[in-house]
Amino acid sequence: MTKRDYYEILGVAKNATADEIKKAYRKVAMQYHPDRNPGDKVSEEKFKEAAEAYEVLSDQDKRAQYDRFGHAGVAGGARGGYGGGNMNMDDIFSQFGDIFGEDIFENFFGGQGRGRGQGGRPRGARGSNLRIKIKLTYEEIAKGATKTVKVKKYITCNTCNGNGAKDKNSVQTCGTCGGSGQVRKVTNTFLGQMQTVTTCPTCSGEGTTITHKCGTCKGEGRVYGEETVTLDIPAGVQEGMQLNLGGKGNAGERGGSPGDLIILIEEEPNEYLQRDGLNVVYDLHISIPDAVFGTNIEVPTIDGKAKIKIPTGTQSGKIFRLKGKGFPSINNNYEKGDQLIHVNVWTPQHLNADEKAMIEKLQSSPNFVPKPEKNEKSFFEKVKEMFG
Ligand SMILES: [Zn+2]
Ligand SMILES: [Zn+2]
Repeated sequence: MTKRDYYEILGVAKNATADEIKKAYRKVAMQYHPDRNPGDKVSEEKFKEAAEAYEVLSDQDKRAQYDRFGHAGVAGGARGGYGGGNMNMDDIFSQFGDIFGEDIFENFFGGQGRGRGQGGRPRGARGSNLRIKIKLTYEEIAKGATKTVKVKKYITCNTCNGNGAKDKNSVQTCGTCGGSGQVRKVTNTFLGQMQTVTTCPTCSGEGTTITHKCGTCKGEGRVYGEETVTLDIPAGVQEGMQLNLGGKGNAGERGGSPGDLIILIEEEPNEYLQRDGLNVVYDLHISIPDAVFGTNIEVPTIDGKAKIKIPTGTQSGKIFRLKGKGFPSINNNYEKGDQLIHVNVWTPQHLNADEKAMIEKLQSSPNFVPKPEKNEKSFFEKVKEMFG
């Protein structure tokens, strides 16, 4: 399935300001909101699509990633369960508080405010996002990798199952709001009486109060601990890329939805190889006799060793290309870069008396006088062609 461009979804220009993006999202979200289009699957999809686009474009980091790497930059590849795409309605509604201001939105749509669980069950605050760095070797980037990491974070309290109460009887429907999490207020204005809906001050919108708190988590519904998380890193990631693992961040308070785990990709430098986009560059040093007579030589690649043939009379500065031996594109693993092998002929720096005599003999030989071919491209042109 091809994803639509986020800017296109919201109908804004690539250089739109944060304010323009917010306004555009508000418009689209109002148009396709489920309360206004009950049972309409197409509207629901458009509503979700817009929320995903806004989630990315409203976040400076994510927007920069998206601008640089496209959908791959914010959603990961084919392998992982990362990212955008899997926002649920809960997350979307929890986003609204920031955009519409709770009161306005709840007035419009009748109570689909923040902090509501599936089926309208009020819940606590969402957990925050967590960031971790993952260092990957070139080999791991080329093939994709599965990493198991221990993440220190808030996890759901096992004793109370996250509700924060000592036992069942300690959870009581909030007396102020009757469990809805909201209170209605009638205000007199110059236009007449106006009814506004606000978050219940007694239960902070959760709809319940706790008489006896859970001893383990002190009523928070979560404790600080450690979780082992398996990361499926898709092939072709790049330094600076971020993968978003939805729901693997800090647990929310008292059953609130969890935050995301954001994985920042770092590349471990390789001893021999240098990455240049999808290509890999290798500096090969050969001896003068090998350059003159030609030879077969083994070179490292990101996928083991490869044999290459150095032809007779190879000049220093020559660049050989190993097709398809570069990195796969994260968007399409069948599209691969090349390995470029840059030949350097090694000039010896210490000679014994015999060697000295031999070279002196060659010095006056006409075959050793440089005669570059007219049509031979300059080093500059070659580099431009190979790397351009
Ligand atoms: Zn607890
Ligand atoms: Zn209440």
